[in-house]
Amino acid sequence: MADIKSLIAEFEKVALNPAKSAAELKKETGKKLIGMFPYHLPEEIVYAAGMLPVGMWGGQTEIKLSNKYLQSFCCSMIKANFEMGMNKTYQKVLDGVVMAAYCDTLKCICEDWKVAVTDMPLIAMYYPQNRKIAAAIDYMGAEFKKAQEQLEAIAGKKVTEADLEAAWEVYEAYRAESRKFVKLVAKMPKTLNATVRHLVIKAAWFMDKKVYTEKLAALNAAIEAAPAEEFNGKKVLVEGIMVEPIALLDAFVENDVCIIGDDLSHQSRMFRIEGRKEGTVYEKMAYRIADAYADPLLLDEKKEHGKELIDMVKEYGADGVVVCAMKFCDPEEYDYPIFKEELEAANIPVLYMEIEQQMESVGQYKTRIQAFAETLA
Ligand code: SF4
Repeated sequence: MADIKSLIAEFEKVALNPAKSAAELKKETGKKLIGMFPYHLPEEIVYAAGMLPVGMWGGQTEIKLSNKYLQSFCCSMIKANFEMGMNKTYQKVLDGVVMAAYCDTLKCICEDWKVAVTDMPLIAMYYPQNRKIAAAIDYMGAEFKKAQEQLEAIAGKKVTEADLEAAWEVYEAYRAESRKFVKLVAKMPKTLNATVRHLVIKAAWFMDKKVYTEKLAALNAAIEAAPAEEFNGKKVLVEGIMVEPIALLDAFVENDVCIIGDDLSHQSRMFRIEGRKEGTVYEKMAYRIADAYADPLLLDEKKEHGKELIDMVKEYGADGVVVCAMKFCDPEEYDYPIFKEELEAANIPVLYMEIEQQMESVGQYKTRIQAFAETLA
């Protein structure tokens, strides 16, 4: 247990102060850092170029400058990212940023960034909607190669296919260990409560993935060796982009509600797809996007998100689903009415909460989580 606590403390230290952690990472490794906007970017290329990717998932900042460019109905996460580009917060540690135009907001930011944040190189990527066909795999490979050239210019280093294969293996190991961790939460739902679970997963965004994976493997092994915890609270699956601020996660803990599994872009959607073994490394990276499921950012003509959520609820033994919808996130809002009906038809209780990163108080959310927990069987 001592091991478990001290390993968790290391992850918490990193995840609770991202700016400080990124600055330390840069100083300790001497490597350039590349900011990765949300969703499915080829981190392997950054890693293969001898740089380290770090996550850009918004954060707590006062929104002032970005209002000049962004509409009031822009999601709070991207507003925060853009603000920290404009107010030079990112320039203290980052050497460039990568983003892909997944939604209307990100499409605008790709262009806004070029005129408003001129001192930070931007690598903009465009993914196909029809992502599963052979032409899409070829097209994504071409986009990866274009991004690679721009990253090589920042790194001052040419990336070989062998470098990329080695980086791919580092990331596959990270993804496998992360999948194992989310399953182990069921064994220790008290120790790995909603906040701890979040911080352990979040720390990956501010560490060298190889170092992170070694530490996570040690934590997983310690959990496997420990006795299972008795837990009499409720278990939920959370859906959405991400769950923050931390006070919101604390509200789950205070009400004895365990996040037993997730369908979040910030968490499992990042690592739940195991890479295919065949093909070039560019094809393997593209297949991970083609094979992704239950992700509102990626076209799904059959609209199977609801069915996939029902399967996840069964797999994790969840008592209900908490939807943490990022306010003004159109891809999430398009999916919700469809899967809500399907979950309710399957007698799965659903709580819908619209969240913003810069919320001043989470009082009303605490009450809603408490009330929801009381209704669960
Ligand atoms: S997908 Fe939603 S949360 Fe993400 S950038 Fe677009 S609007 Fe914002």
